[in-house]
Parts: sequence; C-alpha cells; structure tokens
Amino acid sequence: MAKTVFIIVDGMADLPIKMLNNKTPLEYAYKPNITLLLKNAAYAYPSVLGKLAPQSDAGVMADLGYDPIKYSTGRGWFECVGLGMKPTDGDLSIRVNFGEVNNGKLSSVRVYMSKEELKDLEDEINSKVRIPAEFDFKSGEGYRAGLVIRKGKVPLSAYVSNNEPGYTAKFYPNGKKLSFASGFKDTTIKPVKAMRREGAATARLLNTFIKEASRVIKESKVYRNRVKNKQQLPNFLFIRDAAVRDPRLPDINETSGKKWCAVAGMPLEKGIAESVGMELVDLSEYPSLNEDLTRKADAAVSVLKSFDCVYIHIKQTDSASHLGKYTDKYAIIEVIDRILISRLSKVISVDKGDTLVMTCDHATSSELKRHIDSNIPVLIVNKRFGRSNDFGETACRKNHLKQIRKATDIIPFMTKLWRY
Ligand SMILES: [Zn+2]
Repeated sequence: MAKTVFIIVDGMADLPIKMLNNKTPLEYAYKPNITLLLKNAAYAYPSVLGKLAPQSDAGVMADLGYDPIKYSTGRGWFECVGLGMKPTDGDLSIRVNFGEVNNGKLSSVRVYMSKEELKDLEDEINSKVRIPAEFDFKSGEGYRAGLVIRKGKVPLSAYVSNNEPGYTAKFYPNGKKLSFASGFKDTTIKPVKAMRREGAATARLLNTFIKEASRVIKESKVYRNRVKNKQQLPNFLFIRDAAVRDPRLPDINETSGKKWCAVAGMPLEKGIAESVGMELVDLSEYPSLNEDLTRKADAAVSVLKSFDCVYIHIKQTDSASHLGKYTDKYAIIEVIDRILISRLSKVISVDKGDTLVMTCDHATSSELKRHIDSNIPVLIVNKRFGRSNDFGETACRKNHLKQIRKATDIIPFMTKLWRY
C-alpha cells in the first residue's frame, strides 16, 4: 500500500526579504534533499482564509481538509484536548498564556519558563485558586497552559472576549468561532467581557479566576525565585478562544480512506490530530532543533510501517518569524531538509507510488513578526508529476495545480491522487 508523508511546517511561508536577495526564507534556504524530490513534483498555492490572516488552529484544520468556518468552536477546545484535559460538551476550554502586566499595562504576553516552573505553578493554581466552579489547569510548552472549567449549575458560554490584546474573537452567523491577530496600540489590560448576555456569568467566573490565579502566582516560590534571579515575572494570565463544544470533525480515516498517525509536540496540533481521529505519537517539543527533528523523523519512519499516512508538525519556523529572525528561519528550513527530508526520502518510494506533501498552516512575515493572509506554498511529490523547479512561494505562485484553490482542497485532491 502506498504511503503518504504530510508535513506542516508552521508559518514557513514568508514575504521576500531584501537582505535575502529579495527571496523568502524558504526560497533562500539551501535544500538539496527537497531538490532531489522535485523530479516528480507539482505545486499548489492555495489561500487559507482569504483576506484574513489565519491562526494555527484555522490553518492546520484547513490543511487537513476541514473548513474552519464550518467547524471551529474555538481554539481552546483543541488546546485542552491536546493537553490531555478531556473536555466534554458544556465544559469551558481555554488557551492560557503566562504573561506580565505592570500598572495595568501589558509588558509581555509570553513569559517563558522551564518545565519545572510551569509544573509548580500548575500545582499551586490547582490547589489554591478558589472559584465557584470545578476546574483543571494544566501547563503546556514554554509560556502556555490550558484551563477547563467543568460544567455545573450555571451554563458556561463561549461568548466571552479574550483578555489578550490583539486577539479578537469573531463569531460567524452559524455560531462558529475563530480568532484573529490584529495590531493594537492600547496596551491597557481589560477584563474579560460578555459578547452576548449569555456570556455574563462566564465572564465573571473567568475574571475571578484570573485575579485569584495571578495572586497565587505572585505568592509562589517560582515567582520569588524569579524576582531573586532578576528574570521576567509571570504575574498575569491571558486567556483566549474559549470553547464549550466539541467541533465534531469527521474522522479523517473514514473521509480519506487512509489510516493516519500524527507526530506532533504542541498541544494545539496534538489536539487537532486527536479530534480528527488520528493516532498520535506524542513528542513534546525538544529545545534542540536537531534532536527535535531527529526524534520526529525516527517516529515518522517507524509509524509508516503500520499507517498509510503520517502527519508531522514542525513548530520552530513560526517561532523564529515572530521574533523577526529571518536568518534563523531559513537556517531551520535547511535543517529540516538535512535531517527530516533526507531521512524520509530514504524510506518512501516515489516509484512505487508513495507521496510526500510539504506545506504550512499560514504565512508568517519575519519582518512584520506576525501572521499574514498570503497564500501558502504546497509541494506534492508523486510519480504522476514531472519535474518542477525551485520549491518556494514564487514557483508555487507561477505554476500551480488549478484544482487546489483553497487549503481545504489539498486532502480531497490527495484522495483522488491516491485512487489512481
Ligand atoms: Zn501556525
């Protein structure tokens, strides 16, 4: 049975950068192993969400064939599923950032901490915060966490605002919910607000939780140690993308007729993979890029023995873009080529009908340091295709498959390709 490797490199697409000879980081990167695959390759250049700059939840859903506007109930659902918090319908699931606020103004929405510090704060919050509802708080990677408030007497509602400036929740007429990053000037921290009357009790509950948790954090040993070591101080929780319902994504194994496994480390991507019915090889993110990619390559090679399709998620490109480090970004793409693509090229057989797809969930501009609405480059390696040149945004824009106009068209296209 032919195998498929589906690689999503987070925020890989970018804009041309003057210092890179007006190439994008993907175009500038030296990628000999990808080039070797181009003798049987076709490109696509689909839009993800039209003129809206997608977040990762929307981008990954779209790449895997699920229209975010048709399905999304709020990113918080996937974050909490991915953290193993097992939310059920009626619970409120939320993405949380440990951040820093001074004099009511935003200092940082990302206070990076060690795994030990995050675990200590998780324990403190779970044992000391009191709100009039049951809840679970769980730390994730870096500065991230998840909160599930369990359903009780008062119905919980997703109609609440985000208190993280620059992330605006949008509800669609069909009740679906997505949020988008936007620029902002006012850094004053505002309380969580009800976006409809039914959200009032939930907004109050969340504001109480945030106040209580921030107090508990400031009384913690982790906080005292960070004061002593003059480190950035977590003293506030930013919440976003509350969800109260399972988005009920159709099972990808059934819709595609292929058995899927995911190799991922970030809670969001793990949560999406589980929600679409994929098996999961849970590899928490490793600080060393080489080690992270080696572990993911090993896992993918092993999984391909018993699954038809493996989805691999790689995070580092997006993180480099948000920090404005475009030289890091192309260097990361070079390491992906050297470690992951070279390894996978040895186990997949294009001649026998195996397929490799490499794309991203959205474009992230390293110069603007944020997600943008650009279309995404997609590489599809399969024996049905002839030679292509120079994988990158420009090549994909110039010469792409007409059948893939939107990111959600990729999987249906693949399904037809597999049938030949
Ligand atoms: Zn992303």
